[in-house]
Amino acid sequence: MKRRDFLFTSTLAALAMNDLYAFAKWSNSLPENGAKMPVLFIGHGSPMNAIEDNEFSRGWKSLAGKLPSPTAIVVVSAHWETLGTKITTMEKPRTIHDFVGFPEKLFQQSYPAPGHPKLAAEIISTVKSTAILPDEQWGLDHGTWSILLPMFPKADIPVIQLSLDRSKGPSYHFELAKELRSLRKKGVLIIGSGNIVHNLGRILWEDKAYDWAIEFDSKIKTAIDANDSKTLIDYTSLGKAALLSVPSNEHYLPLLYAAGLRDEKDKVSYLNDKTTMGAISMRSVMYHS
Ligand code: ZN
Repeated sequence: MKRRDFLFTSTLAALAMNDLYAFAKWSNSLPENGAKMPVLFIGHGSPMNAIEDNEFSRGWKSLAGKLPSPTAIVVVSAHWETLGTKITTMEKPRTIHDFVGFPEKLFQQSYPAPGHPKLAAEIISTVKSTAILPDEQWGLDHGTWSILLPMFPKADIPVIQLSLDRSKGPSYHFELAKELRSLRKKGVLIIGSGNIVHNLGRILWEDKAYDWAIEFDSKIKTAIDANDSKTLIDYTSLGKAALLSVPSNEHYLPLLYAAGLRDEKDKVSYLNDKTTMGAISMRSVMYHS
């Protein structure tokens, strides 16, 4: 590395550290508020689920109605991949319409929930295994707002996003999630938003599923039922069905955040357990007391 490049990189690193320091300095941790919040993995599927009244959006609405009221929501979305793990720290996250070819009505949607800089700061200081980077640029992508719009239409609960570090393997994500467990006692609802089976290259425009998609979804359910985190992390060991169901793993990895936040005593419930459009599993998972 040239000296000039080195200086530039060092300056950036120092600036980032300053940010971390500034956050840590004024951060007081949020209080515990009694009951432990469930953890969710939501299979989000098509962005149209945000505005369509269908079996999936109805499932999400019904689920939200049964949850304790969250103090804040943290979403790990399949649609925010970065180098290094980032967290949104802005007061007012923008609504990101990160898709093409959908009706104008979908582009007109906004989800004006506030951010939660204090919670972001707490997460930055809570996680010890990696330096989580503050981010002022992102906002709420459709992996987040397309599910929150049906679930919490008032958009009055603060929302932050945690990114997926695309340079890291599955076990990194599972282990990182474990470090966030204390947030559940503070009323924070943590949601992984993706799809267990997600192969856009094999989409069918009809309501049926490939055998391999059903097989993979079912084997993952079996692993969840057995609290078999080894198989969830090492999902490629499930062979050809895994290869076809998870051609790239950004939609699968959010499941590992929910699984990492699971408490030994948690029960498991499922929602929208259906694989559709050939290769999209809409299965959602809730870990709860
Ligand atoms: Zn998606």
